[in-house]
Amino acid sequence: MQFYKDGFRGGNPDLKTAAPGRRERAPFAPLPKKVDVLIAGCGPAGLCLAAQLAQFAEIDTMIVEPKPGPLEKGQADGVNTRTMEMFQAFGFAETVKRESYWVNQTAFWMPDPKTPAHIRRIGRTQDVCGISSEMPHTLINQARVHELFLEVMQNAPARLEPDYSWAVKDLAIDATTEDYPVTVTLENTGINAGEVTTVRANYVVGCDGARSKVREAIGGTLQGGAAHQAWGVMDILANTDFPDARQKCLITSAQEGNLLILPREGGYLFRMYVELDKLNKDERVSSRNFTAEHMIGAANRILRP
Ligand SMILES: Cc1cc2nc3c(=O)[nH]c(=O)nc-3n(C[C@H](O)[C@H](O)[C@H](O)COP(=O)(O)OP(=O)(O)OC[C@H]3O[C@@H](n4cnc5c(N)ncnc54)[C@H](O)[C@@H]3O)c2cc1C
Repeated sequence: MQFYKDGFRGGNPDLKTAAPGRRERAPFAPLPKKVDVLIAGCGPAGLCLAAQLAQFAEIDTMIVEPKPGPLEKGQADGVNTRTMEMFQAFGFAETVKRESYWVNQTAFWMPDPKTPAHIRRIGRTQDVCGISSEMPHTLINQARVHELFLEVMQNAPARLEPDYSWAVKDLAIDATTEDYPVTVTLENTGINAGEVTTVRANYVVGCDGARSKVREAIGGTLQGGAAHQAWGVMDILANTDFPDARQKCLITSAQEGNLLILPREGGYLFRMYVELDKLNKDERVSSRNFTAEHMIGAANRILRP
């Protein structure tokens, strides 16, 4: 992070001078007709790219997201040390360090050899090798990480903000021109649901998740594989005498499957990943109708006694 490279001035050094000629941002202001870069999706990938491009006011960037606003409840929470180093480059690693749980140790629990129906702790290890980074491995709500990226975008010279309630529906590339060759069809998912508009772009970046429309539109296919294992995830405030509830734990039971405990930031909650059933190839976990009771039942069986 370089402060004052254009001379000293008072005030918050994270708030960059706004570039002139920026787009009108009032509610219901019209969308632009042309942009240099259109990013599809306000997940971590899209927001990270948008935060970076927002530093360059001469690059006209737009980021669209079908949800009506910022993520409220995150999915992910684990932030690796290299990602923390990236956060440092964006200027918010110290905030994450202050607000997060630091994963320093991992405890391992296995069936007790004498009474295999019971589990016992077999050891603890340091979670991250000492020399790999000066940053800690942290746990923090994904929604908070999104917020920090949004703050960087809003404070950047481009004062970039997402266009919520818009989804990429399709795109077409005109190979005969280099002048905004991609025409992107956007569909409103908000109060004007179904309304369709087009934006032309020089570049489109598909950060629209596992079932990417952008990938589909350019004829791409998923590379890699999928794990056919259902896991349940709960963030809970538990009344428990389990001694390692505030530490990362991997618990393997003799018959009932596996469980991962990750303490949440803030000192009270912890997250439990509970192994549920194997899935058939091409089967979606949503088809099984797992409930919180299934997860609590499995967790109690794995942790017993
Ligand atoms: C329960 C759970 C726990 C996880 N825990 C961790 C963890 O601890 N650590 C970790 O590193 N990872 C974790 N992950 C994985 C992590 O969440 C993903 O790898 C990450 O979110 C992928 O980021 P992304 O930006 O590529 O896509 P996504 O996060 O999927 O974001 C895609 C965005 O695109 C939007 N979108 C969808 N369709 C369109 C469209 N047509 N047009 C425009 N936008 C569109 C979506 O609404 C969404 O906002 C976890 C995932 C889950 C589900």
